[in-house]
Amino acid sequence: MGNNPHLLILPYPAQGHVIPLMELAQSLAKHGFKITFVNTETTHKRVVNALADDDVLGDHIHLVSISDGLETWERNVPGKLSEAIMTVMPRKVEELIREINGSEEEGEKISCIVADQSLGWAMEVGKKVGIKQAAFLPAAAALLVLGFSIPKLIDDGLIDQDGIPTENQTFQLSPSMPVMNSTNLIWTRMGSSTMQKIIFQVMEKNNKAVKSADWLICNSTLNLEPGAFSLGSTNHTHRPTSGPQSPRELRLDTFWPEDPTCLKWLDQQQPNSVIYVAFGSFAVFNPTQFEELALGLEFTLRPFLWVVRAESVTNGTNFNYPDGFLERVGTRKRVVGWAPQQKVLSHPSVGCFVSHCGWNSVMEGVSNGVPFLCWPYFADQFINQSYICDVWKVGLGLERDESGIVRKGEIENKVDDVIGDDGFRGRAFELKESTMRNVGEGGSSYKNFNNFVEWLKNS
Ligand code: UDP
Repeated sequence: MGNNPHLLILPYPAQGHVIPLMELAQSLAKHGFKITFVNTETTHKRVVNALADDDVLGDHIHLVSISDGLETWERNVPGKLSEAIMTVMPRKVEELIREINGSEEEGEKISCIVADQSLGWAMEVGKKVGIKQAAFLPAAAALLVLGFSIPKLIDDGLIDQDGIPTENQTFQLSPSMPVMNSTNLIWTRMGSSTMQKIIFQVMEKNNKAVKSADWLICNSTLNLEPGAFSLGSTNHTHRPTSGPQSPRELRLDTFWPEDPTCLKWLDQQQPNSVIYVAFGSFAVFNPTQFEELALGLEFTLRPFLWVVRAESVTNGTNFNYPDGFLERVGTRKRVVGWAPQQKVLSHPSVGCFVSHCGWNSVMEGVSNGVPFLCWPYFADQFINQSYICDVWKVGLGLERDESGIVRKGEIENKVDDVIGDDGFRGRAFELKESTMRNVGEGGSSYKNFNNFVEWLKNS
């Protein structure tokens, strides 16, 4: 084998998965690895568009697409893409590896598949074609530990065999991990009970496959999740590593065009004064909630930068701002369709981040020392909120009323509580510093990542 082997990197086809795996690819490319980065055709086109004017990939990363076997219209049918990911993609990936390895010189053949943890089947494909396998978790390490703990949760009567909670109960997997609620587990926050059962089954399957991987890589750091990492390495024979990339200086731009003009607007604001409001790429509001959020922001009397994606509201592009809202808030507001989020969060004017608590957003807020106001919607976002509010104490949760709406008064009060209390900013700064020490030279993530690189090169 050559000194710089050829790797195949395979993300799950969604932005929040592609971006951290692309960052991992970029970090590995800096160590000289040749990388074949595989997307489904649709995602591939979006990645190519996002990279159009940029040369961030260099000579080492080659983008390749495989078909998901679906017609365009089928991608909008609920469940079709997930089904294709489980049934069509494994064959396509296997064919691709066999094709490349059949034609490349000995030292150039793909020697390891690095795949998203939610594509557990990729570990089987790796074994079948005789190459090493590493699984990448783009979420909190706590989720891995939660997944591995499913048999115990069933034994303890917290969930049934289908993953459905027997009743509303709290539990803690380790003292420094968030207190979890049986109704707030990833799969129990994913739509109808049929959908929950399907996702639970897929998770169980993935967990089994991932347990057999040679390496587990988590997009997290030891200081953030000591409990999860200690459970991950003592209860299982794998080697979880953490924080594969140092501060994200090299990155793929997001799938939507960013509006960079908001950075100039931020330049004109006072330090720590701006409320940044963004809910990632999926969350959708009902019109009442949208209006309450607008009024809540208005009531704070503070400047705010609000990301309103075109499809943010259930009734489409008609945002229905409250009457007179835009005039009343005037230049105190900036509304954009998509923000350069990492640049926004590193701007000194930003005082707090109203977030849905997607893990990428959490990591970006943490690495920039920004306090949070948590507004989780589904999947792992409730567990991430618990890290922010209960474990790290760098933010507060926004409470919904009995009809499930976060009211304007709640938004106004909690923004004041977070921005007005230096304690949140102080703790957020300390968390950022300890995270940077972790990923910086000599830190545990830095060492783990180098061990991973050595293993890829030598074993
Ligand atoms: N993001 C962005 N601009 C925005 C909103 C979000 O660049 O206006 C990026 C953000 O930086 C993060 C990703 O989109 O990297 C969202 O990922 P996350 O895991 O937070 O949420 P998801 O979209 O998966 O729900």
